[in-house]
Amino acid sequence: MEDYKKMLKDKNLKVTKGRLAVLELLNASKVPMNAEQIYEDIDKEAVPSFTSLYRILKQLADEDLLKKNLYSNGLLYYETAKLGHRHFIICSKCGKISSIEKCPLHEFDEAAAKETGYVVEYHSVELVGICPECQKKDE
Ligand SMILES: [Zn+2]
Ligand SMILES: [Zn+2]
Repeated sequence: MEDYKKMLKDKNLKVTKGRLAVLELLNASKVPMNAEQIYEDIDKEAVPSFTSLYRILKQLADEDLLKKNLYSNGLLYYETAKLGHRHFIICSKCGKISSIEKCPLHEFDEAAAKETGYVVEYHSVELVGICPECQKKDE
């Protein structure tokens, strides 16, 4: 909690209940979340409306306190920098994201570097699928 207050102050952002709530929620989440999912879980006393949530997300992303990524379903997903390197699989039906903890691609990075002479800085892989809940709905 103190961490976030300091992070906000370092960026010259006022420490507000709403900003803290968003940072805390995303930090507790193991996966990136889109605005709708955040709004569903957020303390409505801290973030009373969707409009205020959007404003907060934009401010925090502009100041690099959150990373945002556009996924192939056309939605922006937000995450804190603390998540580190990992991969995600996104449900093409409901937009739910699950994380894949282990990255199996280090060998691929090395092979690519060898083949092309590049220094590989990072890779990004997006997996798309149908989550267990949506599979059940289809039955
Ligand atoms: Zn789903
Ligand atoms: Zn990886």
